[in-house]
Amino acid sequence: MYGPAGERYLDLISGISVSNVGHRHPHVLAAIREQLDHYLHLMVYGEFVQTPQVRLAEALASTLPPHLSCAYFVNSGSEAIEAALKLAKRLTGRPGLISAVDSYHGASHGALSVTGNESFRRAFRPLLPGVRQIRYNEPDDLRHITRHTAAVLLETIQGEAGVRVPLPGYLAAVRRRCDEVGALLILDEIQTGFGRTGTFWACEQEGVWPDALVCAKGMGGGMPIGALISSSENLQAFTANPVLGHITTFGGHPVSCAAALATLHVIRQEDLLAGVAERSRLLRQELEAVPGVREVRGRGLLLAAEFDSYAVLKPTIDEAIRRGVLTDWFLFCDNSLRAAPPLTISEAEIRFAGQVLREAATAVGAA
Ligand code: PMP
Repeated sequence: MYGPAGERYLDLISGISVSNVGHRHPHVLAAIREQLDHYLHLMVYGEFVQTPQVRLAEALASTLPPHLSCAYFVNSGSEAIEAALKLAKRLTGRPGLISAVDSYHGASHGALSVTGNESFRRAFRPLLPGVRQIRYNEPDDLRHITRHTAAVLLETIQGEAGVRVPLPGYLAAVRRRCDEVGALLILDEIQTGFGRTGTFWACEQEGVWPDALVCAKGMGGGMPIGALISSSENLQAFTANPVLGHITTFGGHPVSCAAALATLHVIRQEDLLAGVAERSRLLRQELEAVPGVREVRGRGLLLAAEFDSYAVLKPTIDEAIRRGVLTDWFLFCDNSLRAAPPLTISEAEIRFAGQVLREAATAVGAA
């Protein structure tokens, strides 16, 4: 990446888990250009099915089990969450929504209502009724999932909480509890999807599939697009009572769909998932060697390096940026440095990032 005066930056955050295939990947650019030369047209009610949407939906289905074979395209993560919450209410007729403490699901009213951080919500009340937060990774709290619960919405790995990985068996226990009471399990893979953790979807590593999955961010290879994915039967519920239960003008824009399809192909053709585990190990090692780092958490190329405090971390980040490594902290975890580079990052680049972070931390006396 380059600043306005041509300064070079190594990107350690990917626009927050967006540039999974790197910046301006030639195949993504070619797909965008090709679609530009065909058409940009959309129809809000979905009267005409468009080829780029169908191709993308097919490709997404090929990464998922049969009960997650139908996609509703939107423009962002927040919009995908909105659609998922509405689907859960429409399917169950129940009022309750459960999400996790310190989850982040987006900035629109519904998505903010299920975002689990009061400092973010307080100024915008009243929000959606019937929402309750449980503690992530706390099996005791699963008793709050009841027959009044329409859906449980969780990030497969909590991103903005500072990269909190599910404990072994936690998501499987949530899955069982949802099945017992007939609630939908919705997994937010907006930050973890499209290969970020070394499998196409992070939930694959948990052996758990949700009833509905939401994605965005890395999906578009830099273009805006999101999706709510569920079974065809479930999504049919939006077609009746009311007949247009969920509509969007720009959702599934042909250029974004073409870019997303190219992104998915690049991940496969360049076998990007295969390199993630090794790069993750190296990045972890480099982060552990940074003065002031107390702990490194995460999976694949979604890592957090914890410092004692924001007071120590912030000058380190500022100094790293001055020295050409772009990073930041987390919305709900301001003592941890974000390390979520493009999946295409090379070993040499990881070593360079580590060296710059060590120099930056030493320069500001972080240890
Ligand atoms: N869910 C998660 C896990 C996210 O990280 C984000 C964005 N940071 C969102 C939802 C919201 O996505 P968007 O900003 O595209 O609305």
